[in-house]
Amino acid sequence: MSSRPVLVWLRNDLRLSDNPALHAAAKSGAPVIALYILEEAKGLRPMGSAWRWWLAGSLRALTENLRARGVSLVLRKGDPRKIIAEIAREAQIGAAYWNRRYVVAETKLDTEIEQHLLANDCTVETFNASLLNEPWSIQSKAGGPIRVFTPYYRASEERGNPREVTGDLRKLIAAKAPNSETLADWKLEPTKPNWAKDMNASWTRGEGGAKERLKDFLGDALKGYAEHRDRPDIDGTSRLSPYLAHGEISPHQIVQASPARGRDADKFHAELGWREFSYHLLHHYPALSRENFQRRFDAFPWRDDNKSLARWQHGLTGYPIVDAGMRQLWRTGWMHNRVRMVCASFLIKHLLLNWRLGEAWFWDTLVDADPANNAASWQWVAGSGADAAPYFRVFNPILQGEKFDAEGSYVRNWIPEIAALPNDYIHKPWTASPLELAAAGVALGKTYPAPIVDHQEARERALRAFQTLKG
Ligand SMILES: Cc1cc2nc3c(=O)[nH]c(=O)nc-3n(C[C@H](O)[C@H](O)[C@H](O)COP(=O)(O)OP(=O)(O)OC[C@H]3O[C@@H](n4cnc5c(N)ncnc54)[C@H](O)[C@@H]3O)c2cc1C
Repeated sequence: MSSRPVLVWLRNDLRLSDNPALHAAAKSGAPVIALYILEEAKGLRPMGSAWRWWLAGSLRALTENLRARGVSLVLRKGDPRKIIAEIAREAQIGAAYWNRRYVVAETKLDTEIEQHLLANDCTVETFNASLLNEPWSIQSKAGGPIRVFTPYYRASEERGNPREVTGDLRKLIAAKAPNSETLADWKLEPTKPNWAKDMNASWTRGEGGAKERLKDFLGDALKGYAEHRDRPDIDGTSRLSPYLAHGEISPHQIVQASPARGRDADKFHAELGWREFSYHLLHHYPALSRENFQRRFDAFPWRDDNKSLARWQHGLTGYPIVDAGMRQLWRTGWMHNRVRMVCASFLIKHLLLNWRLGEAWFWDTLVDADPANNAASWQWVAGSGADAAPYFRVFNPILQGEKFDAEGSYVRNWIPEIAALPNDYIHKPWTASPLELAAAGVALGKTYPAPIVDHQEARERALRAFQTLKG
């Protein structure tokens, strides 16, 4: 047992349970310093606004949970290389533990910090916390990346779950805590204007919220998930994505708590498999959020049209399912997966706007903004990704609405100005007669926009644009 403190650097693993780094620190018997850094270093992508809002709640919960165990969470803002070197020197730490992360700019920092610590008489241990399989552990027969989901997932299933959920966290011994900044100093949450009111009402941030959400999902919604997961009008998915993104729960905990087999559980586990696949891709293609995975898309003739971009961002395209999704995103920081696909397809194919613009908007507005999932999903929809939807598959926003929100209740919830329209028109208000529109209190072009583009024309334009890539 060493009396020199152990530093636990917490990042996207803001939980006490199933946190291997914290667990190992507790087990070591050494006094513990728990640190979170609001990182500022060249090359790191700035956090989005919704992410920062979530982070505030997450850190508050973590602070309380650690305090209940006698340990203060030290908050620092700045370059992690400098901050950790300073704490290591001043507190004379003997070891540093952290859980691994996978964005290349972050892993480079981690390696630099590790080397500095090792050269200064401090051991370093890193752990797997947030993925069922390390991104490099699943390989093709030739030893490289697997670019198609099904064989990737099959290989991961054959490999099995590589680590058990850690047991109960042992007693933590607190070291003398270095100076800390305060959460209030960081101003992570908006005040004037406070655009996060609906987000506050929609979510319970923190590890407790994650556990509650998992329990509710397994109790209520898992049964029927395979069928209901495509329906934005019902609460049919887990909504665990922001908790996973911030590490308030681990996929290991989710898998352990859910049934091992069955149609619904299989489907749910496969979705977690998509998350793993995204990280596999990100590991092998670190520029996934910036560069087309299929380089032939570099020549794609994107349009430049800020007005249409703004109308898409604010849910004013005139296509109700798209607008409902974009408003759900703005108000709650989350959007249903089916609607994410429809909205992304609309931006890329109906408006011919670069997928990177959509990726950036989602990055800023999603509470679950995830460097792997967001980039991989945008490229999937664009057709430029690995195992992507074929470019010529253009989602029809009317049919998608009619199929997955048949009664229109999702649309009515987010677009009250057209709520009184009969079901026949709820996904295509422009087809209602003037009399029917007037009866529903809708003045197209005034109270709700007329369609920004004609679906058929936009579809043909998209296909023509795609043809140019082949020549
Ligand atoms: C354009 C676009 C952008 C997206 N951006 C993100 C993002 O930034 N962060 C993010 O976590 N997901 C993203 N997704 C994937 C998916 O929409 C969300 O993970 C899902 O909607 C989260 O809701 P849930 O937790 O209720 O999912 P569930 O259906 O309950 O699934 C459980 C978990 O599996 C994972 N998962 C589910 N679907 C997918 C998928 N298609 N790809 C990868 N992982 C998946 C998530 O971690 C999710 O929490 C994006 C999808 C699209 C089409």
